Amino acid sequence: QHFPVVIVGAGPAGLTIGNILRAASVDCLVLEMETREFIERRPRAGVIEEWAVRGLEQRGLATNLLARAERHTECEFRFGGRRYRFGYAQLTGTHHWVYPQPLLVTDLVREYADVRGGAVRFEVRDVALHDLDTDHPSVTYTDPETGQQQVVRCDFVAGCDGGRGVTRTALPPERAHISRQDYGIGWLALLAEAPPSSDCVLFGMHPRGFAGHMPRSPEVTRYYLECPPGDAPENWPDDRVWTELQARLGVEDRPPLTQGRLIEKRVLDMHNYVIEPMVFGRLFLAGDAAHLTAPIAAKGMNLALNDAFLLGDALVAYLTKGDGTGLDGYSAACLGRVWDYQEFSMWLSEVYHGTSSGDPYRAGTTLARLRRLFGSPAAGMAFAEQYLGKNADY
Ligand code: FAD
Repeated sequence: QHFPVVIVGAGPAGLTIGNILRAASVDCLVLEMETREFIERRPRAGVIEEWAVRGLEQRGLATNLLARAERHTECEFRFGGRRYRFGYAQLTGTHHWVYPQPLLVTDLVREYADVRGGAVRFEVRDVALHDLDTDHPSVTYTDPETGQQQVVRCDFVAGCDGGRGVTRTALPPERAHISRQDYGIGWLALLAEAPPSSDCVLFGMHPRGFAGHMPRSPEVTRYYLECPPGDAPENWPDDRVWTELQARLGVEDRPPLTQGRLIEKRVLDMHNYVIEPMVFGRLFLAGDAAHLTAPIAAKGMNLALNDAFLLGDALVAYLTKGDGTGLDGYSAACLGRVWDYQEFSMWLSEVYHGTSSGDPYRAGTTLARLRRLFGSPAAGMAFAEQYLGKNADY
């Protein structure tokens, strides 16, 4: 078996690259360890930035998204029992899109496999990469039906297997530099079968910890609660969850949150990493495989899409025209936006968690940041641009 490109992982990054390659009639094989049903339902991200939606649209991948996604123009900060609206669209002319990740993945896998005729194997095991520093790399995996090991020869491997994948372990330690940062906090990530309690995203800064409210659809709302890292979801029975959410997001002039059945409850330890460079020989990493951004600033899927646009276009240029400039500049082009979003995530984390840190000095500087956001038009504009991912390609 030979494919010009093997893509490991059918998440937003891998499927977008696959679609770009198939649109240019480049053959590729996607290898995914889960079932198709599983990846089409896995709940995660929801916020997509305007430039990323336009990038998908230019590649014929946004038809359903543009028809069904909601546009968000404001967010609201709640602290001290009061609420403060922040109209980022009015300031910048740009809005956010809310389209749950499983819907985007469903669109991308349908387009790739059913419309553009891309090859994909689900439920594969034991993916391993070989001879990446030669012109003839290969990928092996165990076929789920026969239990036989398969060997796929290729020209390039796209490592898109997320934060827990195997492709980045193929980078020799002396060739890849990994920067890590641990926030030392956890977030209890919740999905509630309850309509949103506001028309926009809410950030609650409370001495008991941060709480977030993110509308996902008219029926489903994502909530977050700051908790100790490594906390167990079992420590959070439903009534404790709702009591904390009501306390941390409660304000004087709004009714309590609309409650509903909790259909997801898991603890995320907040940490980041960046691998530099994102390339080793014929292996190109994209998305969470190369860099993780804790969901603090809702940036991970957007970065995965940025990498995928750059890598998909660069592979097409090389494989159809022999033009290697995109591949040569790939890692540096991605890392500019990656580091910009990492820095914003750190900044925003302090806004979310400073008041609950137990340190009165940090609580004081956090409240100063918030007051500046609403008191200074320049500070408001700077926040809005970073929140929306505008102008990140410096
Ligand atoms: P993934 O989506 O992780 O896809 C990787 C794929 O590879 C998976 O399908 C996996 O099954 C497969 N795989 C893994 N290992 C192997 C293997 N060994 N062999 C074969 N296949 C393998 N981002 C935003 O931009 N906005 C948000 O609002 C947002 N909210 C989030 C909320 C939560 C609770 C979480 C957890 C994340 C959130 N993110 C958000 C981050 C976003 O979900 C990720 O950044 C995004 O999924 C990255 O896409 P990816 O394609 O790189 O990786």
